[in-house]
Amino acid sequence: MSTVHRVVVHPSRYTQGASPFEVSTSDAPLKDLNADSRHVLIVGGGVSGLLVAWMLLDKGIRVTILAKEWARTWDFSEPRITSQIAGALWEMPPGGCGLTEIETPGAGWATVEHYREWAMQSYNFYMKYAEVSNEHEKGGSSLGLSVAKLHQFFYDDAITSCSKKSPRHEHYNKYAAVKTRIGGVEVYPDKEAIAQRFDKSIINLSSGGNHFQSGYTHTAPIINTDKALAYLMALVQRKGATLETREVKDLRETGQRLLTDYKADAIVNATGLGARELVNDEDVYPVRGAVRRVENTRHSKFRHLNDAYLVPAQIGPDGLPSKTVFIVPRNDDILYVGSIIQPHNENMNLTPESPEVQQMWDRAGDFMPSLNHAGFVNHFPFAQGLRPFTKKNVKVRADEDCGFPLVHNYGHGGSGWTIGVGTAQCAVHIVETLLDDKDKTGLLQVVGMQTDWSDIKKEKFSNAIKGTLGANEKSELLDKIQASGVPESCKDRLKNVVNSWSAELIKASAKIGNQTLTDVDDRLIDDKTNLLEVVTQSDWNDEEKDKFRNAINGTLGETEKAELLDRVRASSLQIPDTYRDRLTNVVRLWSAELMKASAKATNDAIYPIEDNVYKARL
Ligand SMILES: Cc1cc2nc3c(=O)[nH]c(=O)nc-3n(C[C@H](O)[C@H](O)[C@H](O)COP(=O)(O)OP(=O)(O)OC[C@H]3O[C@@H](n4cnc5c(N)ncnc54)[C@H](O)[C@@H]3O)c2cc1C
Repeated sequence: MSTVHRVVVHPSRYTQGASPFEVSTSDAPLKDLNADSRHVLIVGGGVSGLLVAWMLLDKGIRVTILAKEWARTWDFSEPRITSQIAGALWEMPPGGCGLTEIETPGAGWATVEHYREWAMQSYNFYMKYAEVSNEHEKGGSSLGLSVAKLHQFFYDDAITSCSKKSPRHEHYNKYAAVKTRIGGVEVYPDKEAIAQRFDKSIINLSSGGNHFQSGYTHTAPIINTDKALAYLMALVQRKGATLETREVKDLRETGQRLLTDYKADAIVNATGLGARELVNDEDVYPVRGAVRRVENTRHSKFRHLNDAYLVPAQIGPDGLPSKTVFIVPRNDDILYVGSIIQPHNENMNLTPESPEVQQMWDRAGDFMPSLNHAGFVNHFPFAQGLRPFTKKNVKVRADEDCGFPLVHNYGHGGSGWTIGVGTAQCAVHIVETLLDDKDKTGLLQVVGMQTDWSDIKKEKFSNAIKGTLGANEKSELLDKIQASGVPESCKDRLKNVVNSWSAELIKASAKIGNQTLTDVDDRLIDDKTNLLEVVTQSDWNDEEKDKFRNAINGTLGETEKAELLDRVRASSLQIPDTYRDRLTNVVRLWSAELMKASAKATNDAIYPIEDNVYKARL
C-alpha cells in the first residue's frame, strides 16, 4: 500500500501574507475538488507550468494545462522541450551558465535577491522531498531527484571579502550566500587547499591554462528531468488536472474568451521562450546551450562519478564571460557534460562535430582527463536547447494591462529547475491574491477585523475597497492609514487599494465618458448616482437591482458580470439607450480596471520599487 507523503512549500519574504502550505504525492488533492472549485488554466507544460499545477491542485483549485508540446521520454528523434534538455543542477544564483544571466532589470523587476530567495525555497523543497520514500523507489527519486556534492572552482579569490567594484564581487556574493544558507559547505581559499582536497588524477588544477585560485563545495540537488517531467505529468493528472495539446495565440486578446470557454477564473502563462510571441514580449530572447550525454555506469570505461563539478563563467580582463565546464551526474547513470552559452542564437543545428561542441568537450576533457575514455549514451548522445532568458529577468507577475486575471511565470533562463519551486509558489500566491481581490472579500475582512476602528472609518475603508470613494475622502483616509496601528503589510495594501483603485476607477470613468482625467472626479460620482437612480426606478426584482448596484459600485464577480450583461442586452425595459450602454460599459470596464489595479498593487508588493533596494545592489 502506498503511503501519502507531504512536503511543505514555504513562502518567501516577497510573498508577505502567504502561509506555508503542503503538496502531497498522493493521487487525491489535499483539498477536495468539486464543480464549484475555482479553475485555473495554465498555458505551458514544462517545469514552470507543472509545478504551479501541482501546488494549485493540492490547494483545492481545478487545473487545465494547455501546451503545444510535452516532455517526450519515448521518442529520441523528436526535439525535446527545454525543461527536459536541462542538466538540471541546482545552483545558487546567478547560475554558472553566465554572469550576465541577471542583468540590471530596473525598478519593479526581480533582482538577484529574488532569485536567491526562490532558489532557497526550491532547495529546501528538494531537500525535504529527498526524504520521501514511496512504493517505487527510496529517497525522493520518483521525482528523479538526487542530492550530490557540487564542487566549484574559480581563477581568482572568490572567498575573501572584496569591494563591490571588483570583478569578483558577484562570485564573492554568491559564496557568501552559499556559506550562510546551504549545507555541506567545504572551502578552499587558495590553490594549496584545492590541491590538498582534489586528487590530480581526477581534475587538472590548471585547466584552461590557468591555476584555480579558490573553490568551494556544497550540497546540491540534481534532477533527472526525463523522470521528473513524466512523474509530474502523471501526478497532476491523477490529482484531477486535464492536459490538452493546444497552441494558444495572442493571449492578451484571446484570454477572456479562453476563460469563458473553459469556465475558468484565471490564466497562468508558463510558456518559457514561447512568451515572446504569445504576449508579444520583446524582452524574451534565447540562449542556445548543449550537453553531451556520457555513460556513467559502474561498468563503463570511464570512472563512475557521484559528484558534480563546475567552473562557472568568469569575467576576463576584456569584461567578457569565459567558457564554462559543467559536469553533472544524474541518478539514471548518465553524465551531462557541457555547456555552451550563445545568446540570441536559436538555430537548433548543432551536432557533435560542430566546432563549439568540440571545444566544449575538449574543455571538459582538459579539466577532467578521464573523460577522454568515456563513451556516449548510444540512443541519445547529444542534446541542445534554448534557455528562455528575458532582459528584465524572470517574469513572475500579474499582468497589469489585460483586465482579466493573468499571471506570468516565464523567462527562467538557465535556472528553471533551480528557482522553479520558488517561482511557482510566487505565481500561485499572485493567482490567489487576484482571485481574492476579484471578490474583494479578503480586504473587506481585514477592515472588518480592525477592532480599534470606528464603524464610520470601517465603512469608508469598505467603500474604498468597493471603489466608491471621492477624492477628499481618499486623502483623509490615506492620512488615517498612516496614523493607525495596522500592521505594516496591511497598511501598504490598504494604501495601495485607496490609491490605485480610486485612480483606476476614475480612469475607467474617463474612458467611459471619453473625458479628460482632470474633470472626471465629480462626474464619476454624478454618473453613479444617476445610474443607481435608474436601477431604483426600474421594474427589476430586488435581487437584480442589487446586482446592478453592485456592478455600479464595482463589487461584481465574473459570473454575475456575464449574467448582468445578458440581462441588460435582453431587457425590454424602457431604459434610455444611453443608460443601457453606460450600464454595459460600467460592468465591463470597471471590472477590468479593478483587475488591472489589483495586479499592479500585487506586483508592487512583490517587487518593491523603493530606490534603496537598487542602491543596495550597486
Ligand atoms: C542546455 C541547457 C542546460 C540547462 N541546465 C540547467 C540547470 O542545470 N539547472 C537549471 O535550473 N536549469 C537549467 N536549464 C534551464 C531550464 O531548462 C529552463 O529554465 C526551464 O526548462 C524553463 O522551463 P519552462 O517550463 O519555463 O519552459 P519550457 O520547458 O520551454 O516549457 C514551455 C512550455 O510551454 C509550451 N508553449 C510554448 N508556447 C506555447 C503556446 N503558444 N501555446 C501553448 N503552449 C506553449 C511548450 O510547448 C512547453 O510545454 C538548462 C537549459 C538548457 C537549454
